[in-house]
Amino acid sequence: LSNCFLGIDLGGSSICAALVNLQGRILHFRKVETRSEEGPRKVVERIVDLAQALRRDSGLRPNQVLGVGIGAPGLIDLKKGVVRFSPNLPGWKDIPLQRQLQAALKRPVELDNDANVAAFGEQWHGAGQGYRNVVVYTLGTGVGGGIILDGEIFHGSCDAAGELGHTTVLPDGPMCNCGNRGCLEALSSGTAIARAGVEALAGADPESPLRVLSGGRPEAVTAKMVFTAARQGDTGAQGVVSSAARYLGISIANLVNLLNPELIVIGGGVSIAGEALLRPVRDEVARRALKETHACVKIVAAKLADQAGVIGAAGLSAHARRRGTARQGGKRS
Ligand SMILES: [Zn+2]
Repeated sequence: LSNCFLGIDLGGSSICAALVNLQGRILHFRKVETRSEEGPRKVVERIVDLAQALRRDSGLRPNQVLGVGIGAPGLIDLKKGVVRFSPNLPGWKDIPLQRQLQAALKRPVELDNDANVAAFGEQWHGAGQGYRNVVVYTLGTGVGGGIILDGEIFHGSCDAAGELGHTTVLPDGPMCNCGNRGCLEALSSGTAIARAGVEALAGADPESPLRVLSGGRPEAVTAKMVFTAARQGDTGAQGVVSSAARYLGISIANLVNLLNPELIVIGGGVSIAGEALLRPVRDEVARRALKETHACVKIVAAKLADQAGVIGAAGLSAHARRRGTARQGGKRS
């Protein structure tokens, strides 16, 4: 039980925490509601309480938890350990989360963006284990992701790299939440697939699987339902799936040519479609990527599902400790 790290996944609706060993195995797990409407101070208190409760579950003394990692949604200032802004956490503006947790828990704390942390988890002990250059796409309500280059999260110049969902794949395509048109997120996210499913439903036969599954109600259509209908032979739903896969493939082909990664990992709620999604994605990438870059890349499904966040956060802490860069007092020592 010694040599374990505490990983925290701070989300808009829930906070998950886990004690994780160096093999990436979860030893203890707890989850509470975020209740973000109560404001940052209360949420930070809840994180501290959760971390301490988890440590008590394990019977470990405080100093036997070697370090803490946390993934938070939104824009992070990594040097300062500050959550600058978070669309999912009302009132969070320039919150010094890393310093606050370090003061309360008396352990070194690593803070990063939640999508980066989940990507790191997949590279540390998930589908990307053993690979150094890995890009993780997370397809859920939106499209997030993380880029791991030479075993390190790539952050870019102002800690905003890895916005895989906002690459343009269709000029003049549908409007995206970011204000641009034709972003990957507007075409291949779960939300986009469900929306295209609603359009397919309008032209569907009365006995078509999509109509039967949804009871003909547009508001009942989900991405999962679209995949199920496609599998049952619904041609409209099949069109939706192949279009979503095509745009994802276009995005990946661009990325493969740019970064020459070894592995692309597809995770998030949409990825439960498995090979039904991955096969057409691989075909599209094969059509578009250069021979050289395509020859050394594999495209696979994620392994850690919704545990990628806590495992990745713990992994980040373990990684910092191994490198000897665990932060002390808000600065890299
Ligand atoms: Zn966008």
